Amino acid sequence: MTPIEPMPASPSARLIWPFFRERAAFILLGLLALMIVDVLQLFIPRIIKRAVDGLTGATTNAHQLLQYALAITLLAILIALFRYFWRRLLLGTSRRIEEGLRNRLFAHIQTLSAAYFDHTTVGSLMAHATNDIKQIRMACGMGLVALNDALVLGTAAVAFMVYISPRLTAFVLIPMPLIVFGTRFFSRKMHRRYQNVQRNFAELTEIVRERFAGIRIIKAYTQEQAAAQQVEQASKGYVAANLKLVRVVGAFLPMMVLLTNMSLAIVLFLGGRMTIAGTITPGDFVAFIAYLGLLTWPMMAMGWVTNLIQRGRASLDRIDVIFQTRPQVTSRPDARCLESVEGEIRFEQVAFAYGGREDGARTAPVLRDLSFDLPAGRTLGIVGPPGSGKSTLLSLIARIYDVTDGCIRIDGLDIRGIRVPDLRRAIAFVPQEPFLFATSIRENITLGNPRIDTTQVVAAARQAAIYDTIAALPAGFDTLVGEKGIVLSGGQKQRIALARALLQDRPLLLLDDPISQVDVHTGRRIIDHVRSLAGRRTVIIVSHRLTALQHADRIFTLDHGRIIESGTHHELMQAGGYYAGTFALQQIEGTLDAH
Ligand code: ADP
Repeated sequence: MTPIEPMPASPSARLIWPFFRERAAFILLGLLALMIVDVLQLFIPRIIKRAVDGLTGATTNAHQLLQYALAITLLAILIALFRYFWRRLLLGTSRRIEEGLRNRLFAHIQTLSAAYFDHTTVGSLMAHATNDIKQIRMACGMGLVALNDALVLGTAAVAFMVYISPRLTAFVLIPMPLIVFGTRFFSRKMHRRYQNVQRNFAELTEIVRERFAGIRIIKAYTQEQAAAQQVEQASKGYVAANLKLVRVVGAFLPMMVLLTNMSLAIVLFLGGRMTIAGTITPGDFVAFIAYLGLLTWPMMAMGWVTNLIQRGRASLDRIDVIFQTRPQVTSRPDARCLESVEGEIRFEQVAFAYGGREDGARTAPVLRDLSFDLPAGRTLGIVGPPGSGKSTLLSLIARIYDVTDGCIRIDGLDIRGIRVPDLRRAIAFVPQEPFLFATSIRENITLGNPRIDTTQVVAAARQAAIYDTIAALPAGFDTLVGEKGIVLSGGQKQRIALARALLQDRPLLLLDDPISQVDVHTGRRIIDHVRSLAGRRTVIIVSHRLTALQHADRIFTLDHGRIIESGTHHELMQAGGYYAGTFALQQIEGTLDAH
């Protein structure tokens, strides 16, 4: 057992415990250096006492004074040296704890399911990753230092004072309980107000982030003033919360100083009289005042440490809530590896409702009683009015969400019984809203995989009908996109996202409205390529443009989460339902556009 093995006091403290254990040697050495500084500081008043007594008794000479001066200089040098060591060791460790915790937090948040992000704002996650982790660092670093000083320096200073005069010490310590009770009262208040500051900070960050994300809409609708007002409002709330906090912090510190000054007044009056009476020497009197000066910091540290540790604990508890959140979509312990995939997809009475309401209840079902079988290598087209559940259906296959009822099978296996990474590796998915990272076009297509060579990237770009556009750019595939690079149109982004999916030679291809933002001609080239995959890949295409689905082996119309018609293009045209009506309308529109 290492010396710091006992169980952590708070359940959430187990989060930082491994970091403490890992760096136990640094912490112990740091504490040792800190204690050495404390002890060395305590010697200075002793030297002052000798010098003053020597001077008042006229028993000292210049040579001795030089010795005292040299001793104090040596102590000062040692104090500086050991102070440097403890700062490096203890504050360095707290920085490492901060780093480790932040990395773990990010890694953990990444494992959480899409449903978590549906109801968690980026602002609050940022607040946790910055403010909370900083508070934990403060508690682990300065908190430890303050705790050590409050105990070691505080006790030792009092011991030296008692050595000089127990009676005087007793009087001087009278204001101390006031400091302790005052500290407890104020630290509780500070903690509550600090939480309020945190809440306001998260709100402000989220509002600003959202206003910038939606800056185009704000400009287009000339909402700049309203946006500025909303930010101002949130900013005002944040400042007000901070000022409330500052008011208690501001009252707390002067109170500490006032109380220690009261002790000084007691020493001057009582200690002065004891010196006149000869009970203590003038050197003791001066040393006593010096010890009192040394005691100020440990007393304040006592107040500070409760505050630091309280804040750190509150932050740790908040972060622990995130760590306690388990991903909803996980691999079951008995989950199977998926070695080779044929690509048959079967839905058996699938129902789905989004969760995420505050009370944990689910919202109305989005998909109901959905059953179909898509043999391997076939293409399924899905149409339906907006909100009918088409995108949801695709995301269920990739287990972005899990079905609420029923079962989805791939090659006869329930997808919940397949290891999640294996399942996702079998699927190439192009979501409706393509997302590009702020890096080069090449890296966006390869997702940073350096093993993919240029010929493959070029082929994928050609298949997604985006090659000519990229080749015309000055830096070609190395052109940066996003804030630091060029601005791409919605259709260009869509095709880069499509190239990314086509590059991944995966047995299942899920396309969510892949040609919604490209012209008819380009759309046809893309669909021709997708058609050429027939037999080799199982494809599901959601599209509002029905010509994209015309050649699918089977087409569904979804409405309110149910399949209301199903068949080939010809069958659906003859049925004369939603599909036939929409197709006819799009044909007329196409003819009109052509004229
Ligand atoms: P479609 O793709 O057919 O337009 P969706 O599958 O996107 O339809 O949406 C179906 C329904 O589910 C809609 O009513 C939509 O409001 C709801 N919905 C979609 N995504 C979410 C989500 N993340 N959380 C809650 N409800 C959602």
